[in-house]
Amino acid sequence: MTTKPEPNTQLNFDALPTREAEMARLLARQIAIPSTKSAPAPGAPYGTETLRALEDFLARAAADGFRVKNLDGHAGWIEFGEDDPERPLIAAVCHLDVVPAGDWADAFTPVLDGSVMIGRGSSDDKGPAVACYYALCDLRDSGYRPDCRLRLILGLDEESGMQCMAHYSAVDEAPAAAFTADAGFPVIHAEKGILQFQIYIPAVGMDDGDEAGLRLMRAIAGTRPNVIPGSCRLLWQTADGAVESSDIEGVQGHAAAPEQGRNAISLAMDQAARRLADAGQTDSLVAVYQDLIALETDGGRLGIAGSDEVSGPLTLNVGLIDLDRSGFTLTCDIRYPVTWQLDDLLAKISGRVSEHGGQVRVIHQSEPLYLPKDHPLVATLTDVYRAASGENTEPQAMGGGTYARSLPNTVAFGPSFPGDDDGGAHQTGESVNLSQLSRARQIYVAAFRALDRTYRRK
Ligand SMILES: [Zn+2]
Repeated sequence: MTTKPEPNTQLNFDALPTREAEMARLLARQIAIPSTKSAPAPGAPYGTETLRALEDFLARAAADGFRVKNLDGHAGWIEFGEDDPERPLIAAVCHLDVVPAGDWADAFTPVLDGSVMIGRGSSDDKGPAVACYYALCDLRDSGYRPDCRLRLILGLDEESGMQCMAHYSAVDEAPAAAFTADAGFPVIHAEKGILQFQIYIPAVGMDDGDEAGLRLMRAIAGTRPNVIPGSCRLLWQTADGAVESSDIEGVQGHAAAPEQGRNAISLAMDQAARRLADAGQTDSLVAVYQDLIALETDGGRLGIAGSDEVSGPLTLNVGLIDLDRSGFTLTCDIRYPVTWQLDDLLAKISGRVSEHGGQVRVIHQSEPLYLPKDHPLVATLTDVYRAASGENTEPQAMGGGTYARSLPNTVAFGPSFPGDDDGGAHQTGESVNLSQLSRARQIYVAAFRALDRTYRRK
């Protein structure tokens, strides 16, 4: 399997503190493996490079004396503590697959700039995996003897469907308690529900009067439902028959935080509505968009705005539009409060859409995650972070989905700190600060110890 050249480890780590240098060496090896999803191969359901990343990591841990296991190329684990199934299983959960390089030519050539490591996967999620691994090393090296089994689970399909954790759950043991290292500190005890769906509105039966007037022929924008589109192209046919195109610019961002971007589709449709009004024209499709969405990101016009105390308001992002004279399709992403029911939400959306003769099709959904603040897992990790930071922080809620949803008894915990740069996951120039990662490693040591105490055999 490993006929490719060895990863580049020729970087100079000498200037780094020892703890950072050892993490940097393993991380550089990992970054050099382009573990994006690709065609399945024997023993490698997500492609040979994902398997190579796992094998590289497990080989390292086995050489360091840990128990390791490859779960059919879907995931793997590294374990510390007595090999006794009666002992509760505590886990950290990370992933070694990465998103594609995009237009980043050097994505898989790790670069060290001071104490910052740059490369695809450095912050999402190979760096955090390395921090969790060294936390296990630190525990062992300190002579610590856990009562539980402490495991680092490494998945290979986080970025494109999380089938790796479905496989893990099917063939291996669910942890009694676990944390993922793919978000921020403090502990995240609530993650909104995610609903991705399409709205289709046909133009059939719509009467827009004068065929010769100003017409919106086409609107097209977007890449993925969970991305706020940064631009939207409109094609017009003017009253004298000329064709014009214009690109309406917004501000790209993540669907979980629509307030941080500006949706180019909604801006474009708003401009279109005003241009048509100025020309004394009507356009039913534009009018339907304004009726169902307009410039709002709270779902108010779909009749679904609202919030709960734990997780805050529902958010709505229209990620893609494809409009022509026959109708339009919108691909949307909703993050809904953790105490809400998906069926109620869908019924409301369908009701509004059917008023315009349209249809709704669900393309993806993920149930909310919610563990109360006094749940032993949440309470333990809250105490760990408070002791480490000296701050009296509360568990957080978020709109983004973490890996924690894919396993039971699991919440997200770190590794980025409030106010710190998140490293630009998925972007060109993705990076991780090794001193920050070193702090996270210390907190993970404390987290393993504390969870070991909380969940020890009674
Ligand atoms: Zn990611």
